Amino acid sequence: MAYIEPAPIKDAENPLESMMERFNLAAEKLGLSDEVYNVLKNPAKQVIVSLPITMDNGKIQVFEGIRVIHSNILGPAKGGIRFAPDVHLDEVKALAAWMTWKCAVVDIPYGGGKGGVRCNPREMSKGEIERLMRAYTLAMLDVFGPDKDIPAPDMGTGPREMAWLMDEYSKAKGMTVNSVVTGKPLVLGGSLGRTEATGRGVMVSALAAMQKLKINPFQATCAVQGFGNVGSWASLLLEERGLKIVAISDISGAYHNENGINIQEAIAYRDGNNGTLEGFKGAEKLNDPMELLELDVDVLVPAAVEDVITIHNVDKIKAKLIVEGANGPTSAKADAIINEKGIMAVPDILANAGGVTVSYFEWVQNRLGYKWTAERVNRRSDRIMKDAFDHVYEASIKYDVPMRIAAYIVAIDKVAKTYTFRGGF
Ligand code: NAD
Repeated sequence: MAYIEPAPIKDAENPLESMMERFNLAAEKLGLSDEVYNVLKNPAKQVIVSLPITMDNGKIQVFEGIRVIHSNILGPAKGGIRFAPDVHLDEVKALAAWMTWKCAVVDIPYGGGKGGVRCNPREMSKGEIERLMRAYTLAMLDVFGPDKDIPAPDMGTGPREMAWLMDEYSKAKGMTVNSVVTGKPLVLGGSLGRTEATGRGVMVSALAAMQKLKINPFQATCAVQGFGNVGSWASLLLEERGLKIVAISDISGAYHNENGINIQEAIAYRDGNNGTLEGFKGAEKLNDPMELLELDVDVLVPAAVEDVITIHNVDKIKAKLIVEGANGPTSAKADAIINEKGIMAVPDILANAGGVTVSYFEWVQNRLGYKWTAERVNRRSDRIMKDAFDHVYEASIKYDVPMRIAAYIVAIDKVAKTYTFRGGF
């Protein structure tokens, strides 16, 4: 079965290409028919717009804006908006497909979408970014909608941009429509629990996997790469559940303490130190930050950037369990070796889906016009994450495949079955 789209980037170690390789494996295992395969490989909608913006110097600059809906078979599309200088259509297509599988694997009623605006927000003023976000929203007025396509933050955007999007969309509709976008500030209808949601999902996935591997959390050690939103929350919540976090890292380096790092102290240090762990005294700094991945620990959580576990270092990995907080931290080639070594890898589309799950809760609360407590958000997202883990684990046994392929099998099977029931033309 020849699979071409949407895998635009030819570098074999590229995470998007890697994702497509895994999609192929899962489709073959499932025995997906060529007809349904063709439906799932093509994005449902691709929109490209030109956005002329008056810059602070009075000159008009034209930006390209993209929105791709990969699938709306399970429900309205869901996916972030990326503001980056190199964002392009093929990348957005692949990321939109990724969202389809991520939503399907945790069984939330969304399809997949993604957006991008080619710009460099670091070189733009707040006013220029605001005008660009508002222009993009107006251009996508017929694409976005609480029942059609619900954007969210991604690289280069955050709650501030989502607030502008919500406001511009609401003005155009003549009423407040906060359910058109998630990742909003709390006062505009954002959800409690969203900040910690992804790290929390990583914790739930890790504990579920440890139970299967018969690893006692109170005797387990863990190393976490990346100490931003996902990594620091995952570290804190895993520590609370008994694990000894022996190493953490960020862009400034990796920090190791065999006796365990006090994560609350590390977070407080980072927050008072311009967001970086540089100079942290609760652990020894490793000479090479990549050594963190090779430590003799039970659990390894890559929660920083993509493509860090590759054929160049996978042989040296000693962890029994890898839980992928980051998107695409393991290359497809390294995957095969991880499996040979008998390491369980809980894949990104499952392990870091706690974030999109609580985004879904934000949309539900906005539509209900009712705010849930943090306790309710956490309880419900924990259950969704645990159920998703169990489904994927069952599929890995049934099809005799690693967890990663099993996650794609669960996702593709769900979308394919729904498509078949709904029927085509
Ligand atoms: P963040 O910007 O808050 O934190 C990133 C952290 O990684 C920072 O501590 C940074 O210093 C560190 N870092 C960067 N390069 C590094 C390197 N080479 N080595 C070690 N550390 C490095 O980002 P985040 O929101 O925590 O996202 C982390 C990953 O999780 C990304 O892959 C992101 O796509 C993925 N993810 C995030 C969410 C979410 O809700 N935030 C949801 C799903 C997936």
